[in-house]
Amino acid sequence: THTRIAIDGPAAAGKSTIAKRVAAKLGYLYIDTGAMYRAVTLYTLENGEEIIDEIEDHIHITFGVNNEVYLNDQDVSEAIRSQEVTKNVSYIASLEKVRTYLVDMQRKISEASNVVMDGRDVGTTVLPNAEVKIFMKADPEVRAKRRLLEEQARGNNYTLEELTKDIVRRDHIDSTREISPLVQAHDAILLDTSHLSIEEVEDKIIRLVMK
Ligand code: C5P
Repeated sequence: THTRIAIDGPAAAGKSTIAKRVAAKLGYLYIDTGAMYRAVTLYTLENGEEIIDEIEDHIHITFGVNNEVYLNDQDVSEAIRSQEVTKNVSYIASLEKVRTYLVDMQRKISEASNVVMDGRDVGTTVLPNAEVKIFMKADPEVRAKRRLLEEQARGNNYTLEELTKDIVRRDHIDSTREISPLVQAHDAILLDTSHLSIEEVEDKIIRLVMK
C-alpha cells in the first residue's frame, strides 16, 4: 500500500515549493494538480471552451521526470504560468466536467506510487483517505512577496499590488465555488508558513510522515 501526502491551501502559500522538496527527499512522485487545471485553461484559451464537453477526447496531461507538464505531448511548463492562464484558471477550475476529469486522473496516478499531491481539494476530495494531510497558509502580504520573487525570477514584471489582487481574487473564486471549494479538511494539519523558512516547513512535514 502507498503513502499519500496531500498539501492544500490558498494561492502562493508555498505548497509547490515544499511539495517538490518533500517528494524529492522521500523519493515520492510529485503531482501538481494546479498545473493540470492550468493546462486545461491553456487549451481552452487556444481552442475554445466548447471542447470541455468532450474533454477526454481533447486533453491528455502527463508529467516529466523533472516535473515538466505535457499537454498532448507538448511541454507547456512555461506556457501555463502566463498571465492569461492565471487570469482564467479559477473559472475553468469551477466547471464540473473539468474537475471530474482531472480528479479521476489524479486518483489514478496516486494508485501507482507514493505521492505528494498539492492543490486545493486534495485532502477533501481527491484523496480523502490520504495518510498525511497538510493545509498550508500564509499571510496575504507574505504570499504576494513570494510570488513577486518567483515572477521576477521568471523575468516577469508584476507589481506587488497586481499580485496581491490576483491572489485575493483567485482565493475568493476557489473558496466560494460550488464543487469542492477550497477548505481545510477536518483532519488536515494547519501549517502557517508566514514566519517559517522553507527548511523548517519541509522538516515539519517530513516529521509528520515519519510518525
Ligand atoms: O496551484 P495553482 O495556483 O497553480 O492553481 C491554479 C488554480 O487552479 C487555482 O487558483 C484554482 O483555481 C485551481 N485549482 C483547483 N483545484 C486544485 C488545484 C488548483 O481548483 N486541486
